[in-house]
Amino acid sequence: MGSYRIAVIPGDGIGPEVIAEAIKVLQAVATPPGLAFDFQAVEAGARCYQRTGTDLPRETLEVCQTADAILFGSAGLPDVRFPDGTEIAPQLTLRTTLDLYVGLRPIKLYPGVPSPLRLAEGERIDYVILRENTEGLYASRGAGVRVGDQAATDTLVITRSGAARICRQAFELARRRPGAPLDSRHRVTCVDKANVLKSYAFFREVFDQVATDYPEVEATHAYVDAMAAYLVQAPARYDVIVTENMFGDILSDLAAATVGGLGLAPSGDIGDDYALFQPSHGTAPDIAGKGIANPLATILSAALLLEWLGQRHRDPAAGDAARLVETAVVTVLGAGRPLTPDLGGDATTAVVGDAVAAAL
Ligand code: ATP
Repeated sequence: MGSYRIAVIPGDGIGPEVIAEAIKVLQAVATPPGLAFDFQAVEAGARCYQRTGTDLPRETLEVCQTADAILFGSAGLPDVRFPDGTEIAPQLTLRTTLDLYVGLRPIKLYPGVPSPLRLAEGERIDYVILRENTEGLYASRGAGVRVGDQAATDTLVITRSGAARICRQAFELARRRPGAPLDSRHRVTCVDKANVLKSYAFFREVFDQVATDYPEVEATHAYVDAMAAYLVQAPARYDVIVTENMFGDILSDLAAATVGGLGLAPSGDIGDDYALFQPSHGTAPDIAGKGIANPLATILSAALLLEWLGQRHRDPAAGDAARLVETAVVTVLGAGRPLTPDLGGDATTAVVGDAVAAAL
């Protein structure tokens, strides 16, 4: 207890650049022997595919399966594709192989970070999107049907067990959280398109059934199109949002844009046995190699990793470290410097990582 083996997959593009800073911060927050990390770097992604013919080598998978948690940078490059034209995405393979069904996307506006929204004085944004990660429309990845050059289909899959387990996680999370910023109510909002498709009506039905086990948590619904507007107009109303895979994918990018953009958006992909943490952004080929990528999304993902270790192993040292890392990020953001160009600054990736480590 207290000593953790972390599988590290830097990946492609800016992945290795931002991962280096997250490791720097984890090393700075470690307090051996109370809290210690053994990082094991392994390969996956587009460059790995080019070199070895596989994007997710067996050794990488084995290291992930035996580690206490996985820290992932980003993977895939636009000019490197499988023979069928699809992009290299080992992170998606890991989601299904390791059954990482909870896509955890915290959306928090930190003091000092400008939001493109016009918020009322004192209005806060602090909610979490739980995206179902293993089924929904993306269950058809690699399995869609193309009929000549005239038609193509993908099937949206919702199972009772798949919907129930993500909804249950949403209510459990709402129980632990302080509630929505607007009114401190513990609230879970199911986002779907139940008015149009049977699959989404089924998701809602399962959500409503799970909700009966949590009478202390308010259960609400929204159609996804309306939700896109609500997250812009009234974000403080939300506490926990649970939704199907593709809707979660789209809404979490919209949500990230309201709180400082992809450079600040962390994520976790969590299952019953394994968990992987990575920034919400991709490999950003346009800025890769320039040393200007924002490492804060990855550093905040490392904080989620610590929080998860703390809960899973009932280890207060890991939980405390998670809060310390988030506080250090808040300190840097509040000071307004150093920041990378995406947040209006001119600092390098490494300088921002150093600042967070120093703030610890
Ligand atoms: P993917 O499809 O994997 O999400 P993408 O290229 O469509 O990849 P991103 O890689 O996330 O999307 O990049 C989208 C935009 O956001 C790019 O202009 C990129 O430079 C910018 N961006 C992404 N991550 C960061 C970051 N950490 N710091 C600064 N800018 C970033």
